[in-house]
Amino acid sequence: MAIRAEEITSIIKQQLDTYEESLKMENVGTVIQVGDGVARVYGLDNCMSSEMLEFPNGVFGIALNLEKDNVGVIILGDDRKIKEGDKVKTTGKIIQVPVGEAMIGRVVNALGQPLDGKGPIVTDIFSNIEVNAPNVVARRSVHEPLQTGIKAIDSMIPIGRGQRELIIGDRQTGKTAICIDTIINQKNTGVYCIYVAIGQKQSTVFEVVETLKKYGAMDNTIVVCATAADPAPMQFIAPYAGCAMGEFFRDNKKHALIIYDDLYKHAVAYRSVSLLLRRPPGREAFPGDIFNLHSRLLERAAKLNDEKGGGSLTALPIVETQAGDYSAYIPTNVISITDGQIYLQGDLFYGGIRPAVNVGLSVSRVGGNAQIPAMKKVAGTLRLELAQYRELQAFAQFSSDLDKATQAQLRRGERLVEVLKQGQYSPVEVAKQVLIVWAAGKGYLDDLPKDKVASFEIGLNKFVDEKYAQITEKLNKEKKLSEELDKLLKTACDEFKAIFK
Ligand code: ATP
Ligand code: MG
Repeated sequence: MAIRAEEITSIIKQQLDTYEESLKMENVGTVIQVGDGVARVYGLDNCMSSEMLEFPNGVFGIALNLEKDNVGVIILGDDRKIKEGDKVKTTGKIIQVPVGEAMIGRVVNALGQPLDGKGPIVTDIFSNIEVNAPNVVARRSVHEPLQTGIKAIDSMIPIGRGQRELIIGDRQTGKTAICIDTIINQKNTGVYCIYVAIGQKQSTVFEVVETLKKYGAMDNTIVVCATAADPAPMQFIAPYAGCAMGEFFRDNKKHALIIYDDLYKHAVAYRSVSLLLRRPPGREAFPGDIFNLHSRLLERAAKLNDEKGGGSLTALPIVETQAGDYSAYIPTNVISITDGQIYLQGDLFYGGIRPAVNVGLSVSRVGGNAQIPAMKKVAGTLRLELAQYRELQAFAQFSSDLDKATQAQLRRGERLVEVLKQGQYSPVEVAKQVLIVWAAGKGYLDDLPKDKVASFEIGLNKFVDEKYAQITEKLNKEKKLSEELDKLLKTACDEFKAIFK
């Protein structure tokens, strides 16, 4: 076969013409120091703050400190795989996590990688863990209730969709329990839940997941888990990752609820990485930007306006206090960022008042807007009566002869406290809450012994279900307490009272 030179040269020419040089610039640095989950990298001149950096062996990091001659990096993953002299590349991106429907029902780590052994998560939607919160124009004031199913909260400290309500209290006062009950109550409401566990024991998180499964609440829940055994950088980014997953629902016209359990441990994780990066310590050795850390997280919870689809992300951050000290640094910070607080108290908890909500201190700044009108009406006097009861209770302990009016008030107060007690995993639907609060407010419980209140409530619910089902139907449909409904409630309660005795 003859070789034709001109054919070969033409092919070469053609190839040369179409050759495109794709020059890619990469900013590469060198690790000069590594340990305790942080690294110092030399030579990354164009690195951005919070940029994702790539180490060898598929380990990623975030550039937190941009200093004159080096970059302080927190390492997401195993820092033992990195050694001095390793090359580090910038990526031009910030850390992303998978989001979307595929995440529902899964237990993932702070990078969105599965921990539940159910195989890989198949999604092509990713979201940056840090994004700007919606601005003022994109928002709408909170107006739809997010029912927790807990009588003491829904009646007096109502939470609305898009609100941020802090749950604060000492250790072992039922903080997590309230959140789990709230998640359970979101079943079949179209609200997706995200539970972010930060710095807890693995066994505790396991129990939470088992509980959620048992009550069928895992079907609309994502659990993001950065346990105490995970490196501090993972604990630090976990809430942001969870928030990104929640934002997906918020921005797609849906509703989501996110629980951060808890932000004190989050602050501690951030403190440890900050100290390792040699940032100057401030009050309680926390770095100066700890307020910003939490506010930029909680600001992302929002109710969007109709143009933006009307979705919402409600946040329930938890903060643990030490011996009831609400004026410590982290509690005061988070109190000032949130739209309300639920205070849980150890003495109430041990006194058998569970959930141990201190009704006097707790507030919700959204108030009645986040309640259905019927609840707003019946609960109006509840708070006041409880406050009066507490006042009287204090001095009734010392005086023996009380006048009739005072005695009646004390009786009422005691019954109301009983009504607001509630066991775990037994959320009450709003119509049933209205029913019992209405009955208590009208004095149907006043002549009952205190320990009969709970069985009265159970009986009444059953009686209404069997004989006056229209009450719950009407309440669920009309959501307000019409005169007709008021009469119906009266007949039902009168009838039941007669047979209960
Ligand atoms: P920690 O500080 O350890 O996180 P916590 O404040 O989250 O604790 P939980 O773990 O929710 O508290 O509750 C502590 C204990 O109290 C649990 O054993 C829980 O079962 C019990 N408990 C919580 N709420 C109630 C309730 N309403 N009725 C009965 N028991 C409750
Ligand atoms: Mg807890």
